[in-house]
Amino acid sequence: MKEYPVKKNQELTVTVTDLSHEGMGIAKVDNYLLFIENALPQEVVKIKVLKVGNKFGFAKVLSYEEKSSARVETANEDLLRTGIAPLSHLQYESQLLFKQEQVANNMRKIAGMPDVPVLPAIGMAKPEHYRNKAQIPVRKIDGKLATGFYRKNSHDMIPIDDFYIQDEVIDKAIIKVREILERFGVKAYNETAHEGFLRHIVIRRGHYSHEMMVVLVTRKAKFFKGETIASVIAEELPEVVSVIQNINEERTNVILGNQEVVLYGKGYIEDRLLGKTFRISAPSFYQVNTQQAEVLYETAFDFAQLKPEDVVIDAYSGIGTIGLSVADRVDHVYGVESIPEAVADAKINAEINGIKNTTYLVGKAEKVMTQWAREGLKPDVIFVDPPRKGLDARFIEAAVTVAPKRIVYVSCNPATLARDLKLFGEQGYTTKKIQPVDLFPQTYHVEAVALLEK
Ligand code: SAH
Repeated sequence: MKEYPVKKNQELTVTVTDLSHEGMGIAKVDNYLLFIENALPQEVVKIKVLKVGNKFGFAKVLSYEEKSSARVETANEDLLRTGIAPLSHLQYESQLLFKQEQVANNMRKIAGMPDVPVLPAIGMAKPEHYRNKAQIPVRKIDGKLATGFYRKNSHDMIPIDDFYIQDEVIDKAIIKVREILERFGVKAYNETAHEGFLRHIVIRRGHYSHEMMVVLVTRKAKFFKGETIASVIAEELPEVVSVIQNINEERTNVILGNQEVVLYGKGYIEDRLLGKTFRISAPSFYQVNTQQAEVLYETAFDFAQLKPEDVVIDAYSGIGTIGLSVADRVDHVYGVESIPEAVADAKINAEINGIKNTTYLVGKAEKVMTQWAREGLKPDVIFVDPPRKGLDARFIEAAVTVAPKRIVYVSCNPATLARDLKLFGEQGYTTKKIQPVDLFPQTYHVEAVALLEK
């Protein structure tokens, strides 16, 4: 058996030297890495080893011998333990530096481009209560419906009422909806047995419009008194314009199923973003931090240097937020997005805002981009805003073929961003600069915009 420098249950004192990309403290014992929750760089901590793995181990803090000056003493343990706010023990200024460094590190290590300027992350004045969306699991605890969040790497629920990073009106609405469901005797889902009924409460609230949508995710279609419950919710929460039942019969961690029943109201909410109105359906993607999304998009538009005669591609377009925001300033926008409901939203959003020069298609961006290239479409600027896994290599290939002047890459994962910028680099597109924008304060998520030029 292999020998490790530490043993399970061993207690020792270490100095934390680094913060992992998930916000765990890292200490080295004879070059063996230990990941420690709630420990910050420069802190000296007495720890107990919890797990010894092949390449690294995990430990927990028993006591702090020396604390970091960047530590926030008031951080709530549950928010760290559940991963709701895994950086809330670190001062906000340091969080912003951490995020800038995450991008710079990836640019050095993965992209092999240490010289690309990575600008200081743009933060929020009040980095809390910013989320316009909540997805809260429901379980039975002590015979009653409980809402909260799972302990990290487990499905044990810790009941939570104040989620700290969510719109406070949403926090209150979750409690109210839970009370109403309790009143009607609705049963919570039991994950282990795959029994029971109510899996999640999902709430969205327009940052500017204050329109609220409540989605009740259920294991079965039959919802006894569903419509009555929905009207009571709407009565007791006057901002609610839609109550939707989403049916998810699978044993899965995916929250939403494919079937939807509108129990009350119009079935979507509307909000404003950069002065335009957007319709948002339950399955459609919409940035959870509206205020910072505006900063992010403004940065992307500034990088794009658009001209009235420009043809623009909005790839991974969601409900069309990027393309529709620039449509007035350019000749034409072509958008592509894989979720049909989101594309339907994008088309209606064009109409609501009186925009006539956009074409939105349902499809895989890598396929549609290839098709556009074959058809001879000549865009001047391409915006891409892919999910965490980044761009498909076929997308990059096709994008390079149509030879845009500029590509503006909006990314929620610096590792795949760096990987893709390297590929673009090999095909003649230079990364000029990267601007991180903090869309997810108190968490380790990093959002950034990169500018590429031919
Ligand atoms: N630009 C939008 C959405 C960005 S999120 C906004 O800012 O709101 C990324 C989007 O890519 C999601 O809407 C997701 O449904 C979509 N998507 C994921 N994989 C895709 C693919 N292969 N092709 C096209 N769209 C995809």
